[in-house]
Amino acid sequence: SDLEKRYRETNAESYSLFEEAISVLPGGDTRSVTYTQPFPTFIESASGCRMTTEDGDEVIDFLNNYTQAVHGHSPEPVVDAVVERFKKGNGLGSPTRDITELATRLVDRFPSVDSVRFANSGTEATMNATRAAIAYTERDHILKVKGGYHGTHDAVEVGITGDGREHPGIPSSVEERVTTVRYNDPDALKEVFEAHGSEFACFIVEPFLGAAGMIPATTEYLQTARDLTEEHDSLLVFDEVMSARVSVGGAQEKRGVIPDLTTFGKIIGGGLPVGAFGGREDVMNVYHPEEGNVGHSGTFNGNPATMAGGVVMLDLLDEDAIREINQHGDRIREEVQGIADDTDLPVTVTGEGSVFHIHFAEGPVTDFESAGSGLEATDDSGPNHSLAFYLGMRDRGIFMAPRGMGNISTPMTDEEIDSFVRAAEGALRDVEA
Ligand code: PLP
Repeated sequence: SDLEKRYRETNAESYSLFEEAISVLPGGDTRSVTYTQPFPTFIESASGCRMTTEDGDEVIDFLNNYTQAVHGHSPEPVVDAVVERFKKGNGLGSPTRDITELATRLVDRFPSVDSVRFANSGTEATMNATRAAIAYTERDHILKVKGGYHGTHDAVEVGITGDGREHPGIPSSVEERVTTVRYNDPDALKEVFEAHGSEFACFIVEPFLGAAGMIPATTEYLQTARDLTEEHDSLLVFDEVMSARVSVGGAQEKRGVIPDLTTFGKIIGGGLPVGAFGGREDVMNVYHPEEGNVGHSGTFNGNPATMAGGVVMLDLLDEDAIREINQHGDRIREEVQGIADDTDLPVTVTGEGSVFHIHFAEGPVTDFESAGSGLEATDDSGPNHSLAFYLGMRDRGIFMAPRGMGNISTPMTDEEIDSFVRAAEGALRDVEA
């Protein structure tokens, strides 16, 4: 297409860096999600809500490292805290006061969290939370939703794009102990719990489906999950790696549904690799070396610089900051949907608070199935509206996820939101053409 041709022309340096990368990295990258058609843009630097590409373009960053950079890039107070801590020593093989400071913030903010442990990614957080559930309930099975994304450990990769095992490399014995259920469907949940409730150690669920397209769960759905898990002595795990940002106390506080365990990542670690899981004290105590004795080690768990940066990240993400990014998110959803409704394209803009997703689907988009092509942005079979839209946005200086996802960072003002909406208007025209 013309757009692709222009992308190739204007991102020649990125292409040459990609070619170099591909000789030493399979696929030229090291994250499946950032492998972008026709090739990824290489970024040279970033500050606030802007990034400079290796091709010398300045783009407004609406990707924010897949929702991690809630304060944009290199926010000064966070950088200062990280650097100061690092200079005093990092990776000390013994705890520092930073773990307690960050843990206290998580306990204070999130209603479900009595105590917490740190890890290095959301993947590790969900791995350890489900392990806690298995140890606590002495059951082997976990229940998750189709399209639910909880990172890349074996159990949670089952059913991320629908039924069954999409990823060779996951042992079939793991697959056998994971059941998947349709999102946002209380009746389906009732049915599966009636049939197998006594086998489930936990039901792990995102308060909004993130990777599958920023699709909020109804409160009724989450409440049904709460009731059923309680009834069947199974644990409810909210994966708030993405949704923690929707209010000071996360989606659990906003919806008034309190899980047994919660997982965190992305925004809580000063822009450095991080994960955390927390919840009911009696469950978390499986990790108390003198009580439950479930293993949980990690050279970088509670890494001092990560913790020190995380404290500042969370303190900056107060009620006022959240209100403002959420209002910006509302504006994008309303205005882009309005523009799209005047075209012949099937567009549904979803999301909650400061995150959004532009689906090329008729809607309503309520689960993995109705999101349709949302995850296929890198699929080159047939016309691909998401990819065309992405290239159209890139052409207009807006950076977002190729699959149609975007999110707001606190340095953004109405000016950046205006730019996004104007660009979306043009990009939708490109897609129509
Ligand atoms: N859970 C959710 C809801 C996520 O969105 C992600 C990452 O996108 C993860 C878990 C995994 O986190 P990480 O990429 O840090 O392993």
